[in-house]
Amino acid sequence: MTQMGGEGVNWIGQSAFTGEKHIFQNLGDGTYYHSGLLAIRQSVAAKINITYKILYNDAIAMTGGQPVEGTLTAGQISRQIHAEGVRPIHIVTDEPEKYGNHADFAPGVTIHHRRELDDIQRKLRDSPGVSAVIYDQTCASEKRRRRKKNQFPDPPKRAFINDLVCEACGDCSTASNCVSIIPQETELGRKRAIDQSGCNKDYSCVDGFCPSFVTVHGGSVKKGSPVNPDQLMDQIPLPALPPMDDGYDIMITGIGGTGIVTIGQIMVMAAHLEGKGASVLDFTGFAQKGGSVISYLRLAKTARDLKAVRIGTGAADFLLGCDMVVAGSREALRTLQKGKSSVILNSQKNQTAQFVLNRDADIHDGLISHNISHMIGEDQLDRVDAARMATALMGDSIATNMFLFGYGWQKGRIPLSLAAILRAIQLNGVAIKSNIQSFNWGRIAAADMALVEQALPHPVKGDATLTILDDIVAYRAEYLTDYQDEALARRYRDRVEKIRLLEKKLDIQNDDLSRAVARNYFRLLAVKDEYEVARLYTNGEFERKIRRQFDGDFKIRFHMAPPLLSRKDRKGHLRKREFGGWMFRALKILARMRGLRGTIFDIFGRTAERRMERKLICDYEYLLNEFEKTLTREKIFTAIALASIPSEIRGFGHVKEESFKISTKKSIALLQDYHSRDKHMVTAQ
Ligand code: SF4
Repeated sequence: MTQMGGEGVNWIGQSAFTGEKHIFQNLGDGTYYHSGLLAIRQSVAAKINITYKILYNDAIAMTGGQPVEGTLTAGQISRQIHAEGVRPIHIVTDEPEKYGNHADFAPGVTIHHRRELDDIQRKLRDSPGVSAVIYDQTCASEKRRRRKKNQFPDPPKRAFINDLVCEACGDCSTASNCVSIIPQETELGRKRAIDQSGCNKDYSCVDGFCPSFVTVHGGSVKKGSPVNPDQLMDQIPLPALPPMDDGYDIMITGIGGTGIVTIGQIMVMAAHLEGKGASVLDFTGFAQKGGSVISYLRLAKTARDLKAVRIGTGAADFLLGCDMVVAGSREALRTLQKGKSSVILNSQKNQTAQFVLNRDADIHDGLISHNISHMIGEDQLDRVDAARMATALMGDSIATNMFLFGYGWQKGRIPLSLAAILRAIQLNGVAIKSNIQSFNWGRIAAADMALVEQALPHPVKGDATLTILDDIVAYRAEYLTDYQDEALARRYRDRVEKIRLLEKKLDIQNDDLSRAVARNYFRLLAVKDEYEVARLYTNGEFERKIRRQFDGDFKIRFHMAPPLLSRKDRKGHLRKREFGGWMFRALKILARMRGLRGTIFDIFGRTAERRMERKLICDYEYLLNEFEKTLTREKIFTAIALASIPSEIRGFGHVKEESFKISTKKSIALLQDYHSRDKHMVTAQ
């Protein structure tokens, strides 16, 4: 920890007392300009081994995207630090070509694509003295903002994930560090999708090693419902507004960059227009990493009646929970009180930045809901699927929070007049029409959900998955018939049935083991080999999904690494390549050839990956046989854990191989535990 502008200087003292030889130190361009250069100078003078990573992102990302003071160029920074004695200096960027032959860099500076960053850092950690990487890439949030104002190039290209193919391995999140890759819960497990509204068109996610990505060239993201909500408003009654004799306190919680601060400002302006007193205090996190935002909004009859700007413990009258995690935070819960507060909560499970690092991160929505209802009583908590509905209706997830605002107002939770709110939205001056429409859709949803459902361009599906074992098995058996044939489906059903009978025989009161086998044995049988990937692109479902999201005249390009057509990189991993529309026709032919799978004519079946997958099936069937012979009630939990291991073997190629290695260690430990219970039994007897 150090003060802003002192980045890296603590290492001067520390480095003499540790075996660590070198550190990397991040430094923003704004900080560099006002004081960070002095820290670099001190590091050079002290002759320590350190690499400064100067993040040249063209905006003060931390405080809302203001321009960097002094507007230094990357070239000027390189010359300044070169003059201070920093060597070597590398420029890393997503657009190396933009410098052309006119770059004004210091002598010896080299320019690299950002995919080389890891290699560069590995070399620099062994480099003596002070070195630097100037990472030149415009702040992601800032790019989005500027694009909305037509102030930044907006390439007509979008990345899209075919969730049918996705294995939820998380490699795309690792490759991109992007919070616009979001989880999508399906019957076949968690998949990933791209939040097109939040996407900054960086495309690094496409480098995730899998064939699930396509890029969509041309066309546009669908605009939402053709129904204009303004025409439905005469059917919506005006609500009774809450009294505000002793003032009225509203907590607004959400995620940075989604308009939470704007909602607070609109409410304050509406109060001002009505001659009321109002204050708002915003606590904002990092927008580009999905940081939390909490706005404390206090309303009173006059400005003189307002005292502190923060809302006291148990003092909130209403909480507008635009994001579940922030609404369930300690700070938000602190302000709630039974008998006083009520909450309207967006039920969408927005993941935190943790999801980038942990492919299985979960926000535990059930626990959050429980905590909120514990504070205020279940009858005062209203959950609404605002994100899905607003996105479907308006074609952009940014509509969510205005939708929820309208919903809350129509439910009579906000003591401000409709006229004042609409005027405040106009005075806000940004996206006036769509903000009013989103607000109106929220009002309609609160008054008459049937009207919203009729207007949805496609049904809004929740995260619910099958819960009854028979349904789980039937769904997968049908899938396996399409995947290969009825014989494979029968093999699957028979195995699950045997485990179900075993559970009954042992008088186990639930079917958890059967469910684990139903889901995991299926995963192994329905392996996503070349034929299956081809089928999942050409069975009509993928086309339906992409048509649901994009409009107009667009072309699709595929990003794959077919073993027979791809080269390997330095690490020996296959490299993905981009393929044009002809690939779709090739995939159609390949899908029809799936009858060759497992025969001597199966040209893909001899790779190490396919052999590993076949062995996994054999091992799993062996395990099920073992259960039939040796399972006891005491061993049931270990058996469930063992049966669930295949769900951890995910991805394609080297990613799958890596997860296989990790899961093998886990299975060995579990198997030892399983068999050790036999020994305990024998010893006890
Ligand atoms: S398979 Fe892995 S890399 Fe590909 S989209 Fe799914 S999570 Fe991302």
